[in-house]
Amino acid sequence: MKDLHAELEPLGLKVVRNARARRLRLRLDRRDGFPVLTLPKGVPERTGLAFVQENLEWIRERQAARPDPVPFLPGTRIPLGDETLLITRTPDRRGATRRDGDQLLVGGELAHVNRRVTDWLKAEARQRLTRQAHHHAARIESKVTRVRVADQQSRWGSCSGRGVLSFNWRLILAPAHVLDYVAAHEVAHLREMNHGPRFHAVLATLLEDPTRGDAWLTRYGPELRRYGVTDAASPTT
Ligand SMILES: [Zn+2]
Repeated sequence: MKDLHAELEPLGLKVVRNARARRLRLRLDRRDGFPVLTLPKGVPERTGLAFVQENLEWIRERQAARPDPVPFLPGTRIPLGDETLLITRTPDRRGATRRDGDQLLVGGELAHVNRRVTDWLKAEARQRLTRQAHHHAARIESKVTRVRVADQQSRWGSCSGRGVLSFNWRLILAPAHVLDYVAAHEVAHLREMNHGPRFHAVLATLLEDPTRGDAWLTRYGPELRRYGVTDAASPTT
């Protein structure tokens, strides 16, 4: 009998038990592209592994279709709102990362460039999102307690009951109208904590066309997750 475990090992397969799942399900992890198998309750792991083996071609096709990661390295052009910046390393310069025209000047060691660019983009994202959130909040006489910028896996923004707005820093890589849409969307939640008609009425007072930013994110949002990734291949179980 073949040892399926050993055979599937190089795939970096992750097996997840889910009591609520109704059937075997195979997908690729959005972050690293490794296959994830969901096993419903009562289904033996062996059955699941056989299912994976039957679908090896599907896995390879889907992995090949994944967009390549774009690490932040010298010479890389990155979108910043409606502009493009060229990452330029200035090894002799000390001090903070700084923008000069359409260049982003990054000092220090090469190994730290990706992180330093990420830090700069996060700060820039926080600044722009804070400005847009306060701008929209003032228009509907609501108050933003705090603006957080984080690295959420799947969400672009969220709003807590206490008025804390959280945003995904990668919005800085999207066109300006998209960042503005997410800021307005979360601000509208300060008034309506739902996605019902009243929420959409509030949002419509803030934006001319709320569907535009939403449509952009649905279509191109996943691409933004390619940026800044340096170690795309680290299988975990
Ligand atoms: Zn929402």
